[in-house]
Amino acid sequence: MLDLVIRNGRVITGSGNPWFRADVGVKKRLIIKVGSLSDDAKEVIDARGMVVCPGFIDLHDHSDLTILANREADSKVHMGVSTTVFASCGSGAAPLNEAMREEVRREAPFLKEAGVEVDWSTMEEYLSRLEDGGLSINVAPLVGFGTVREYVMGMEMRAPTKAELEAMKREMSKAMEAGCRGITTGLRYDPQSYAETGEVIELSKVVAGYGGFYTSHIRDEGDRGDPLAAVEEIIRIGREANIPVNISHFKVLSKRFWHLAPRLVEMVEQARAEGVQVTADQYPYSASGTGLQAWIPPWANEGGVEELVKRLNDTETTKKIKAGLAVSMEDRGGPENALISSYPLDPKMVSQNIAQVAKKWKMDPLDAGIKLLRDHLEAITSDRVKGGFSIVNFNQTEENIELIMRQPWVAVGTDGRVHSPAGVLKTHIPAPHPRFYGTFPRVLGKYTRERGVVHLSEAVRKMTSLPAQILSLRDRGLISPGSCADITVFDPDTVIDRAGFTPAEATMRYPEGIAHQVVNGAVTMRDGEHTGARAGVVLRR
Ligand SMILES: [Zn+2]
Repeated sequence: MLDLVIRNGRVITGSGNPWFRADVGVKKRLIIKVGSLSDDAKEVIDARGMVVCPGFIDLHDHSDLTILANREADSKVHMGVSTTVFASCGSGAAPLNEAMREEVRREAPFLKEAGVEVDWSTMEEYLSRLEDGGLSINVAPLVGFGTVREYVMGMEMRAPTKAELEAMKREMSKAMEAGCRGITTGLRYDPQSYAETGEVIELSKVVAGYGGFYTSHIRDEGDRGDPLAAVEEIIRIGREANIPVNISHFKVLSKRFWHLAPRLVEMVEQARAEGVQVTADQYPYSASGTGLQAWIPPWANEGGVEELVKRLNDTETTKKIKAGLAVSMEDRGGPENALISSYPLDPKMVSQNIAQVAKKWKMDPLDAGIKLLRDHLEAITSDRVKGGFSIVNFNQTEENIELIMRQPWVAVGTDGRVHSPAGVLKTHIPAPHPRFYGTFPRVLGKYTRERGVVHLSEAVRKMTSLPAQILSLRDRGLISPGSCADITVFDPDTVIDRAGFTPAEATMRYPEGIAHQVVNGAVTMRDGEHTGARAGVVLRR
């Protein structure tokens, strides 16, 4: 007797082959039979007209902390995700020292509200914390380069000493021994940006020694001035550390460099032809979520928010900040393409772009941007408001998104976080980027069914066996006897994302067409309803 049988579906195995009609039989945690099954089963799902495929794997995610506040992983389960991957962009939740724990408590106040005590230090302790209490999805853990660097040398904006480098190597080893599957870096961000390539190579060699891979928010996605050098750098890391490398959320951010996308793709092809194992992941949105603070010159942010407020109140300094803002505003598509998605000081601003605000205020758009930022920061530092000032920036082209999506070595990743329209995350992260809720159904609906960018079986491969291969998950990502029973059932005719950029409620809208979800043999979503099952595990290396 089977525990579960999914009958009459169109099975897409995840290998890239087109669908075939079959039943899928599950016993305990495994798929044990695929075919025309006459076995009895304790539980039956009728999948007539639906696609039955492996559970989706979210190759790029930032759920290190939010998943502790929402172990049901609502936003993921409703998208059909059965396995997620974090840390990302170099920044994770372990190892932590006391100063870092204090920072986590401050930056993630939802943890306290959810009754989560931030008391772990090592990667081993953090992963155990994930396991204790259960999770509705699996987690494939990575170790954050920025986190290890901060653990060893604080926020120092310099190269490490020899002793510090050795200490970082030891921490990398410990994290890999605790079960991490690779290293993530965010070389775009301070102080990780102060690491030279050689430092990154040294640490990546340690990870390579454990069979791990390297994934990176590269040094420059077009927002700094030289995206070609950034892709060259990650290829060099792959070659010299002898490690598979993955470009996180592959994209070209600024108008100035949009035309370079075909060159960047070609560079990856070339490297692969030479034997460097390069892959990438991508989210299917032309807008990224950001804040104006990231658009002004880095020196203006030095010394923290208080210093920035002082500078914004000094006429001469403000002129210089404005000159920097002018350049990045132009690169990012102008004030029309900067949509306000959250502004706690005056929620009426939400859904307007900076050009519209400027018009209303009868101001130059740059002055309006500066005023929005200054007013917000003053309100934050004097504790008058809580929460962030966020901008949705339409800074990529559809053409480039589709070009990147067509590459066989590009997987899917949300760059999101576990989120839920109910509970503490709703109030603490009130305007999530729609990719948190919509990434996978959007690739299947908009880009596959509507636009025909890739074939359906190819889209599924990018969400299943490809990321499984990148993560060295040998027993997931395929519908085949012996594989772990992570299964998603969706309607290919209706599947689509429903989350929008604004207002806040619409950002948390579940997609349509994802019907059922099985994680390690447990039905975790049935007819679009989360069952509360917590069958997920930490997929230690
Ligand atoms: Zn990133």
